[in-house]
Amino acid sequence: MRFDAADLRRWPIDEAELAPFYDWATAEMGLCGTGDRPPLRPVAAIARLLAAARTSSSPDLRLEPFLPTLAVETRPGTTRCCTYSGDCMAGCPRQSIYSASITIERMIAEGVLCKVTAAKVLAVHSQSRTLSILWEKGEQEQVGPFDLILVAAGCLGTAQILLRTLPAVSALDMLDNPVFTFPILVTGGTVAPAEDAGYFGMTNGCITVIPKDPALPSASVQLYPAMDHLWAYFTPGGLWSALVPVGRLLRQHLVIGRLYLHSDHGSVIRMGLAANGAPRLSLRRTGGMPVGLWRSLRRALGCQGFLVPSVPLLRQKTSSHYAGTLPYGTAGVDANGRLEPGVYLCDSTVFPDSPAASPTLTIMAAAMRTAMAAQPA
Ligand SMILES: Cc1cc2nc3c(=O)[nH]c(=O)nc-3n(C[C@H](O)[C@H](O)[C@H](O)COP(=O)(O)OP(=O)(O)OC[C@H]3O[C@@H](n4cnc5c(N)ncnc54)[C@H](O)[C@@H]3O)c2cc1C
Repeated sequence: MRFDAADLRRWPIDEAELAPFYDWATAEMGLCGTGDRPPLRPVAAIARLLAAARTSSSPDLRLEPFLPTLAVETRPGTTRCCTYSGDCMAGCPRQSIYSASITIERMIAEGVLCKVTAAKVLAVHSQSRTLSILWEKGEQEQVGPFDLILVAAGCLGTAQILLRTLPAVSALDMLDNPVFTFPILVTGGTVAPAEDAGYFGMTNGCITVIPKDPALPSASVQLYPAMDHLWAYFTPGGLWSALVPVGRLLRQHLVIGRLYLHSDHGSVIRMGLAANGAPRLSLRRTGGMPVGLWRSLRRALGCQGFLVPSVPLLRQKTSSHYAGTLPYGTAGVDANGRLEPGVYLCDSTVFPDSPAASPTLTIMAAAMRTAMAAQPA
């Protein structure tokens, strides 16, 4: 999912500058619904909900439904093509879902990557352009010097490296998107089972929720079928085939919605390091639902054959969309992610905030932009 101009309003990068890197990341991951890749086929109840949401609104917000462009192989005839078995979350049996290992293997085959090691980076020494690393067997070593160091250990991993690298920094604050889960009941007639013969077990549809007050950030609802893997957790394997019709029936009557909010409404998690070097996390802010949003959204989603029942929202502890520990413009990090000469930060560590959208495509696009800017002249 691409961040739009409103999402990027606090960033030193605009949509036009990020666009070619979004295109590049899209091609690298092979997103369905782009290029020659057919779009995802949502389950029938979600297809119908997306159509209904298109014409629904409320006095405070409008809905923009769309099919997600996921990193799933959908081209018919390819060996990894999705068969709509619904086993996505149980581990796709056909490897239809993109993994970074596909890119790494390609880069090795093309000679772009010459060495991959399994060591853990402890700290970066920018003066000497070296790294302190911990080998799997427990020995520590200082390696380098390197022409260029691109730090991309994920926001959590990079935060730990930075805490060991920057003597003046004793704690870093991480942003997260709050997520609320809720049921949507199909009340306007069931969906013919034949339409639902196969299904896709991850996000089947998305709805951007745009407040009419332009000062407020957008939210996002991800729609899931009543996923079989959830009830399969709680039932013995021997019963699974007998329960398949139950799953099919549930998918005709129930859609699971997950509402993601901007990190402005989310928790802030502080990370420090304990004396033994282990990360120490504490909650600085809990965040929560903005007043009135849920009431308006419930009304807008309860449209034309759908009902959002009045049950308490289930708030997840985290969305795992961590970001913003050392944003562009702080602690010497420039708009290209450069921390020191020859040392660049290439993940969501540098994001100024975390809009209510899946972050991975933007993490890849921003990392590609940083890597290009970092190339020695
Ligand atoms: C359950 C779950 C579901 C999610 N669903 C979605 C989704 O649907 N859409 C979406 O966009 N995002 C989703 N996310 C978030 C997404 O996974 C992250 O935003 C994304 O993986 C971040 O990419 P990254 O490359 O920055 O970091 P990572 O994917 O975390 O990669 C960092 C790599 O660095 C390695 N590393 C860490 N520390 C060190 C170190 N010290 N030395 C060496 N290597 C190190 C790690 O082992 C890892 O391989 C989900 C996350 C979770 C946990």
